[in-house]
Amino acid sequence: MCSPMRRWRSQTMTTNPCCALLGPDTAVVCLSQVNYRTGRLRDMACVTRAIHEAGALVIWDLCHSLGALPIDLNGCNADFAVGCSYKYMNGGPGAPAWLFVASRHLAGAGNPLTGWQGHAAPFAFEVDFAPSATIEKFRVGTPPVLSYLPLLESLAVFERTDMDALRAKSLKLTGYFIELADGKLARHGLKVITPRNEAERGSQVALTHEHGWPIMQALIACGVVGDFRAPNILRFGFTPLYVGFEDVWAAAATLEAIMESGLWREPRFAERKLVT
Ligand SMILES: *Cc1c(COP(=O)(O)O)cnc(C)c1O
Repeated sequence: MCSPMRRWRSQTMTTNPCCALLGPDTAVVCLSQVNYRTGRLRDMACVTRAIHEAGALVIWDLCHSLGALPIDLNGCNADFAVGCSYKYMNGGPGAPAWLFVASRHLAGAGNPLTGWQGHAAPFAFEVDFAPSATIEKFRVGTPPVLSYLPLLESLAVFERTDMDALRAKSLKLTGYFIELADGKLARHGLKVITPRNEAERGSQVALTHEHGWPIMQALIACGVVGDFRAPNILRFGFTPLYVGFEDVWAAAATLEAIMESGLWREPRFAERKLVT
C-alpha cells in the first residue's frame, strides 16, 4: 500500500469507516451520501479522494441528498451519481430516476440497456445501434411523460432557490426536532441516532424505539407522516421548501402525546403492512 493511501486511511477512518474497506482490489465503490436509516451525511469530497487514491471509481447514490443540500459533484471530482427524484425533489412516486456521468467518463462509459432513445439518431430508426455521443446515450425507451410533469414544476422552484439558504433552513429544522426530541421524547425511550454535528447530518432525523412500528402507525393516524425502518427506526424527513418550524413543533408534540396517552398500544397499530 502506498503512503498517501495509508495517510488517507488514518485521516478518514474515524469519520468515514467505509474507507477502511478500500484496498488494491477495489474497483468501484457505490455509496449513499446520506444514509437512509440514520440520516448521516458523508463528506463527499473526502471519501471520493480516498476512493480515487485506492485506484477505484465512485458511484454516489444521492437519493437522500438531491433537493436537500448543495451538491458539488464536479468540485469533488466524482465519477458517477444516481438518484431518484421523488424524495426532496418532490416529483412524487414514479418520478424519473437520473444519472450523472463525469465528462471524462462519457466517451468510455457504455449503456448496457440499448434502446432507441439512446441512439445517436433516434428518429432515423436505423437497424444497427449507434449510441449517442452525449449523456443521452443513457436513455433507453420512451420516458413516462406524465410522471415528468410534477418534476417540471418542482425544478422551476429549485431554479429560483438558493441551495445554501435551503441547507441552512434544513439544519435548523432538523436541529429543532433533535432539541424537541431530547426535551420531550427521550424520557419515553425515543433516542436520536442522527448525528448532532451539522456537518454529518442530512435532512432527516431518525429516532429509535423498540416499539417503533406501532408508534409510527399511531403517528401517521394522527396526521404526522414519517416512516419506519426495521428493526426499530422511526424516520422523519424535513423538506425545507415547505416544512416549517411549526410543523416540527407539532410533530414532536403529537409524538409526545401518543407516548403519554399510550395510544400506540391499540391493537390496530400493531398490524404489519406492505408499505412501511
Ligand atoms: C429511494 C431510494 C432509491 C430509489 O429507488 P427507486 O428504485 O427509484 O424507487 C435508491 N436508493 C436509495 C438509498 C433510496 O433511498
